[in-house]
Order: sequence, then C-alpha cells, then structure tokens
Amino acid sequence: MELNPEQNYFSRLLSHHKPLLISGPCSAESEGQVLETALALKNSGIDLFRAGIWKPRSKPGTFEGIGEIGLQWLNRVQAETGLPVSVEVATPQHIELALRYDMDVIWIGARTTVNPFVVQELAEALRGVDIPVMVKNPVNPDLALWAGALERFYNMGIRSLAAIHRGFSVLGENRYRNAPLWQIPIELKTRYKNLPLIVDPSHIGGRRDLILPLTQQALDLDYDGLMVEVHPNPAVALSDAEQQLTPAAFADMLASLKVRTAQSPNP
Ligand code: PEP
Ligand code: MN
Repeated sequence: MELNPEQNYFSRLLSHHKPLLISGPCSAESEGQVLETALALKNSGIDLFRAGIWKPRSKPGTFEGIGEIGLQWLNRVQAETGLPVSVEVATPQHIELALRYDMDVIWIGARTTVNPFVVQELAEALRGVDIPVMVKNPVNPDLALWAGALERFYNMGIRSLAAIHRGFSVLGENRYRNAPLWQIPIELKTRYKNLPLIVDPSHIGGRRDLILPLTQQALDLDYDGLMVEVHPNPAVALSDAEQQLTPAAFADMLASLKVRTAQSPNP
C-alpha cells in the first residue's frame, strides 16, 4: 500500500493544520441533540463531525442507533454548519444509505475490522466510489488484521485512508476500557509512512478524566489527529455516557493540550 498524500483527503487537511479534530456524539439521538452538538463544535474549529447512526451494542435490548432518519439530521448539520460529517458503516446496506445521503466520510468500527469477510464486502461496495474511509483497529491486538483491512479498501481504489486507534480488548482488570498498547499503532505508522493516525481517547479511556492525558500522550507520539465523543448532556446519553465530554469540556481540553509546532526559524 503506497499512499500519496496529495490524493488523500486527510493528508490534505493535515497540510494546513495538525492535529485533525474529529468530534461529535457517540450516537445521534435526536435532531436537536445532533444540531446543538454540531453548532458548539463548529465554534471549537473541528474538521469533521461524527455521530453513530447504527450502534454495535454488546447486548440486545439496548439502544442500537436511530437509523436512516439520523442521516437526514446529519444533512442538516452539513447545511447549517458547513461541517463535513461522518458515520460508522458495518454492512453494504449502511454504505448504500451513507452514499445516498451524501455522507462526507465513513468509518469502519472495531467490531467490523476483525472480520475479513465483512471488510472485503464493504470494500467491494466502495469500488469506484471516491469517499474517505477511516479504519478503527480491530478489538483484538492484531496489527496484521488492522493493516489488512486498510489494504482491502486500498485494493478497491480508496486512496483517502486514515487509521483510528481506539485501544484493544484485553482480559482482566485494566485502568482503561481498552488498553492502548501504543506499540501497535506506532508500528502501523512506521510501516505506512503516509497513513494519518488518529487517536480515539474516548473508547480507549472509557472515562471522561482519561481523555486529556490520553490525547496528550498521543500528540507527544506525533499522532495526526483525534476523535473525541461529545454530548450536550453526557449523563443522559443513550450510549457511552461515562466517556462523553460536554462541548465546553472539549473546548477546555483543546485549550490545555500542548501541541507540537514546527521549529521557528532563527531570527
Ligand atoms: C464508536 O465510535 O462509537 C464505536 C462504536 O467505536 P468502536 O468501534 O471503537 O467501539
Ligand atoms: Mn461510542
């Protein structure tokens, strides 16, 4: 896989500024919640809005996403804020709907990346389609599986690719919801030099108080961007209530990050 930064949507954004900022609620819950979050995040200068429409929940009987109508709410976000929008897709039907409603970017979730049959089907559904794709790491700590999923999209002609590090499921007690195992994403970045790497501290940490330190750690490791879950009222969120930030807390977090800047020239 040879990625050309000039052909890559994410690299082009990165040529203007770094880190890339991706944010939005875990799940789209109502039109009001989606628009309120997007308007607040627009003021924080984010690059891309995210919202889950189809949610991969561990147990049935929980909120499994609002479905197609959420795509119309995202169309309102595009129209009213000018922000590009992204959703998770896990089936070819999701892709068909995401394309029909003009989503700007799609992402592959951790539970999908584990399955090469599904990834291949999704990649084939995108043959000849020019849409940026972000691929989350698989739930299990398997670098080859993550790289393989990216290559399946590349092989179908997708040139705008980014990897999202959301941590890995490990057995036993852990400080994190998903252990970061930083050496795995760093190895991916070493292998594919032009592949933008985005940290998802929300799903690594699983707790609000871990979002800032995890993001800082990633930026210190020269990550290219972050995807953070933000909800106007996290306490009543229908998914991932423990880890979502309010828009104000997100703005505060951005303000306290120490971002590497290029060395200024000598006077
Ligand atoms: C999400 O982004 O809300 C999500 C379900 O993430 P993951 O696939 O990383 O678990
Ligand atoms: Mn989530």
